[in-house]
Parts: sequence; C-alpha cells; structure tokens
Amino acid sequence: MTARVLVVDDILANVRLLEAKLTAEYFDVVTAMSGMDALEVIQRKPPDIVLLDVMMPGLDGFDVCRRIKSNPATLHIPVVMVTALDQPEDRVRGLEAGADDFLTKPVNDMALFCRVKSLVRLKMLTDELRSRSLVGDAFNLLPNLRMAAVSNGRVLVIDNRPAVSERIKLALEGRHQVTAIASPQEALINASETSYELIIISLDLEQVDALRLCSQLKSLERTRQVPILIIVEPGDNQKLLRALDMGVNDYLVRPIDKQELLARVNTQVRRWRYTEQLRSNVQATIEMAVTDGLTGLYNRRYMETQIRNLVDHSTNRARSLAVLALDVDFFKLVNDNHGHDVGDRVLQELAVRFKNNVRNLDIVCRAGGEEFIVILPEASESIALKVAERVRKAVAAKPFSAGATSGPLNVTISIGLAMLDGAQDTHTDMLKRADQALYRAKREGRNRVITKAA
Ligand code: GH3
Ligand code: MG
Ligand code: MG
Repeated sequence: MTARVLVVDDILANVRLLEAKLTAEYFDVVTAMSGMDALEVIQRKPPDIVLLDVMMPGLDGFDVCRRIKSNPATLHIPVVMVTALDQPEDRVRGLEAGADDFLTKPVNDMALFCRVKSLVRLKMLTDELRSRSLVGDAFNLLPNLRMAAVSNGRVLVIDNRPAVSERIKLALEGRHQVTAIASPQEALINASETSYELIIISLDLEQVDALRLCSQLKSLERTRQVPILIIVEPGDNQKLLRALDMGVNDYLVRPIDKQELLARVNTQVRRWRYTEQLRSNVQATIEMAVTDGLTGLYNRRYMETQIRNLVDHSTNRARSLAVLALDVDFFKLVNDNHGHDVGDRVLQELAVRFKNNVRNLDIVCRAGGEEFIVILPEASESIALKVAERVRKAVAAKPFSAGATSGPLNVTISIGLAMLDGAQDTHTDMLKRADQALYRAKREGRNRVITKAA
C-alpha cells in the first residue's frame, strides 16, 4: 500500500520520528511544520491521510482539521489527531472538529500502523466508489461524515461474560442500540440475519477461539462488510496483529476507557454508513446504466449484451431461444390527440403489462421510442407464440387510464416473433427477422402476432 502520508508537527524531532517509522513501512511521507504549511501542501497535492499534531503555534491542529473537513475538495481525506496522553478531552474536541481518529503520544507503533492502514484502506475504497458513482456527490454525503450525526447504531456485542457486555452496554446506552449475545454460534447466525453496523468482540473470550469467530464473520457473505472492533489485553500483540491481518477494523486495549469506546464505536458506525451510502449510489449508477429511465425496463445496450450471450449459450447447449419485437400501433396519434405526457404514461403502463405477462427469467427491454424487445430463453416456438398472444391480449383487452382527459384509451400492439435458427444464426439476424415479422404484422392490419417475415 503506497499511500502518501502528511505528517504535521511543529517539533522537528516528532516529525522525523513519525517519518522514519512510516517510511520503514513503505509509506510515502511528506511533512509540514505548521498549520499553514500543512494546508498549503494539501492544496498542492492532496495526501491520502494526515497525521496532525494538536498543539502548534498559530493555527493549531483543531483549526487545520476544521478547514480540511469544511472544504468539499478535501473533506474526504482522513485526519488523525495526535494528542497528548494526559489531555483526554482533546480527543473529543478533535472528533468534534471532524477528525477521523486519534493517536496518543508517545505514538505506539501498533496503533500507528493499524489506524493509518485502516484509514488508507477505507479511503481507497471510498475513492473507488466515489469515482464509480454518478448519483450524489461527496457533498450530499457530508452529514454522514459528521460525528454528531451518529446515533442509534445497531451494535452486536459477542461475549460470554455478562459483566463485560453489561459494561459495554452501559457505555453506549442512550446513543446506540446494543444487542449482547453470549454464544458465538448463536451470534454468527444472528449476525447473518440482522443488519448490524458494528460487532464488538473480546479476544480473550472464555473457552472460545475469538480469532476464529472474527475470521468466520469476515468470510460470511452477509457479515463480511460489517466492521469489527476487538478488545484486547495489554501486551497481547500477536493476537492483535493476526486479527488486524484478518481485516478487523479497530481495537481497544483494556482497561476500557468509556469515552474512547464511545468515540471508536461512533467512528466505525459513521464510516459504515458512509460506505454503505456510497455502495448504494454505485448500485444506483449501475442500474441507471442498464435501465431506461421512463419505464424502468432494461435499455437497448443491456438487451444487446444479453441476447448476444444467450445466442451463444443456447447454440452451445442446443436450447431454443425466442425473441419478440413489439411496437405500439398508431402511437403517434396518442401523442397528437392527448399530448406527450399521456403518451409517456401509456409507455409506463405497457411496461407493467409486459412484465406481468412473462416469466421472471424473460428479459423485457425498451429498445427505443415505442418499440420493445422481449427475450424468452429456452422457449419453443409454440410457447413463444402463446406468450406473445397473451401479451398482445393483455394490452388490447383493457383500456389504458394514462390520465387522458377524454377517458381511458384503447391501445394495441403488433408483435413479430423470431426463433434462434441453427448454429450459424446470430443475434443481429434474429433481431432483424423479428423486425421483419413485426412489419408484416403492421401491414396485415396491426394488433396481431406474426412469426415469419414472408
Ligand atoms: P405504427 O402503428 O406504424 O407503429 O404507427 P406509429 O404512429 O406508432 O409509428 P411511428 O413510428 O410513426 O410513431 C412513433 C411515435 O412514437 C412517434 C413519437 O412521437 C412517439 N414516441 C417515441 N418515443 C416516445 C416517448 O418516449 N414518449 C412519447 N410520448 N412518445 C414517443
Ligand atoms: Mg408504432
Ligand atoms: Mg415505431
């Protein structure tokens, strides 16, 4: 992971120390010795993460953090505040200024690498998601990045010692919804059925291999993405390292500082919500790319990739494949007589009727304008004819409401049917034959299904 880390501290020795440690771990380190310097470096070439000293003359760490987090161009850059051990209130102030995490001086190597790596990993994921998402932008997600907005996180605590779960519950009370489960087996099942936003596990569970539990949670489809926070005994570095390797997201060392527990839980829940939001934006973007905005049906591009694949697939397995080309009869008249909006609503109602009259595995597409394509995998000619006839009747049998002032409209469609024909057949030829059959249906009087062009 070659990430660019900006280290900011007004004391040269501190800068050099962090620089040496991070360089040894193959990070690309840049430094700044004042708040103003830091902002300049960030503007010139944004780093992947900022390690920010709190106490600096001039602009202090809180000021710098606030400026980074209030600028839409930089707010996604993670900031770790480096605070003095004897100033616990600084952590809260740092988090309020928008910091993503904090480290205490003297900086412990394990904590340094864990926090930096996990934040850099998260940034790379979110950068990737942001670049793939066309809906929404970083600014719309801003509320999710604010600490204060985090509450009601669904948190699962897995611990077989009631006293431990009780203490965690108490620390998070009023802020998050905590479920405590004693049995790891039961917890695994519960976690895959419930959408938790964070799972807390002690690494020293009695008679249970907690590391195995973490690895199971990180490999199950339903729980893989859910962040895990582990609680370790001081000095239990080996187990901690293995847990971090497995993808455990954060850790706390006993004795648990209540304030730190709450802050880390908030951070994890907030990040989870932010990435979930990005993920669903990416999902929406993907859907936008394959569907038609007016009807929600698949678009032409998607139809073409699907039919190409299905032609190959059906040819290889000697299966049948049918395709229907559908076109609304005299649709121009609907627009001319009732307006374009009514026309649009007719198209939307048509999409619903089409979908209600085909199987789930059939692919219904709007090929453009008032033309549709339905692909029927594994359908024989007689089945495909029946389906086409059913779809035609579903349109003709009942007038369309469509909001026309003159009352419901009678709409009919014409359908051309083509079958996959031998090993040399191609999807373009199939679509062409379906189109020719459609034109014949038009010529012969519309509101009918035709299978052959001639
Ligand atoms: P035919 O029976 O021969 O198919 O007659 P037609 O009027 O349906 O055929 P034509 O292809 O001449 O007209 C299609 C009309 O569909 C023209 C266009 O205004 C309309 N149309 C295409 N896309 C849309 C759309 O998205 N919304 C609406 N409301 N109308 C559309
Ligand atoms: Mg038409
Ligand atoms: Mg047309």
